[in-house]
Amino acid sequence: MCPDKGFPAKQQRECPRIGKGTLTQIQFMDKLIDSEKAKELRLLISESQRFVLTCHVRPDGDAIGSTLGLWHLLRSLGKEATVIIPDKAPYTLAFLPGFKEMAVYTCHKEYCESTVEASDVIICCDFNTPSRQDSLAPLIQGAHSRKVLIDHHQEPDSFADIMLSYPDMSSTCELCFRIIAAMGLYGDVTKDCATALLTGIITDTRNFTVNCKHPDLYEILMHLLEKGVDKEMIVREALNTRSYWSLKLEAFAISERMKVFQQHRCSLIALSKEDLDKFHYDRGDTEGLVNRPLEVKDIVYSIFMREDSDCVKVSARSKDGFPVSEICKDLYGGGGHLQAAGGEYYGTLEDCKNLLVENLNNYDKYLPKENKKLQKT
Ligand code: 5GP
Ligand code: MN
Repeated sequence: MCPDKGFPAKQQRECPRIGKGTLTQIQFMDKLIDSEKAKELRLLISESQRFVLTCHVRPDGDAIGSTLGLWHLLRSLGKEATVIIPDKAPYTLAFLPGFKEMAVYTCHKEYCESTVEASDVIICCDFNTPSRQDSLAPLIQGAHSRKVLIDHHQEPDSFADIMLSYPDMSSTCELCFRIIAAMGLYGDVTKDCATALLTGIITDTRNFTVNCKHPDLYEILMHLLEKGVDKEMIVREALNTRSYWSLKLEAFAISERMKVFQQHRCSLIALSKEDLDKFHYDRGDTEGLVNRPLEVKDIVYSIFMREDSDCVKVSARSKDGFPVSEICKDLYGGGGHLQAAGGEYYGTLEDCKNLLVENLNNYDKYLPKENKKLQKT
């Protein structure tokens, strides 16, 4: 069967030169991507017409960037594509081209159901287990469409026909770029597609400050910039823009709610429903807050708890290789990455905090060897 069947004629032409680079020169990335799987995905794309792109609940920049990035790619290939997200995305990502066209399952149930049912292929981005989709999971898992997983979390469940799981990647967006390049579709990456992909790389690496050691990442950045992406705008919108109340809430959280457990080199910030209401909390307002305690030199890991309507959402970040993913897995049924993880607790905020405090001792063994005394002043 012809792998190009289904592509409009324009895509079958040689890819245009991009700056000094050509498509051949960016094929270095194929080394990390399984070329057989890339071929299989390209064939599936060429043979299919209707695509759904989906991601995890409480989507972040990488979840939205990867689904929207692939949405732009598929549209430039002449495909019908719909992004379906489990619940609303934070307003800080509203600058992304295509943001308003995403369907939100909690708001547009029937539309999402009929779109999923009519789809040929569902591409699952930035999550490793169906439960990360909350109430959307049964619809996606029950669909007869072919499924593709594109993700960078550890130990994925094998629920997809094509599994592209690469836990060493900085972000699902980096992985998407590599897969696109490996499929020979770099020439079809538009400025809007590149903007979405760079957003996920920037949010998951906090603008190239964490999880960004691989030199290839900077070559990927260069190729995205060659597409005309405005990196400064992305950093400003996705990382450095917030509401007045969000800023006030962060100041309150740090000054009134931050507890430091000196001997465990850990900090905890817990915000109750009442705290959140007082500061007119909106989705995304506490984004980045969990990182702030790590600015204190001797704090090795930071835990943030937020009382949601149905559960307590737990977020954790660390440095020096401390495995916060273990804490999230052991205590809060979650996981994630070694130094950036999360989970959920079904119970009161007080019990959620107590569970952590009672178990802190168990994780001291992971602290860096020189157990310096924490200086509070
Ligand atoms: P965040 O703290 O930004 O919500 O999430 C940080 C990391 O932990 C992300 O990679 C995310 O996928 C993962 N994560 C967050 N919440 C959960 C959860 O409830 N379960 C699992 N398995 N992973 C989570
Ligand atoms: Mn991610």
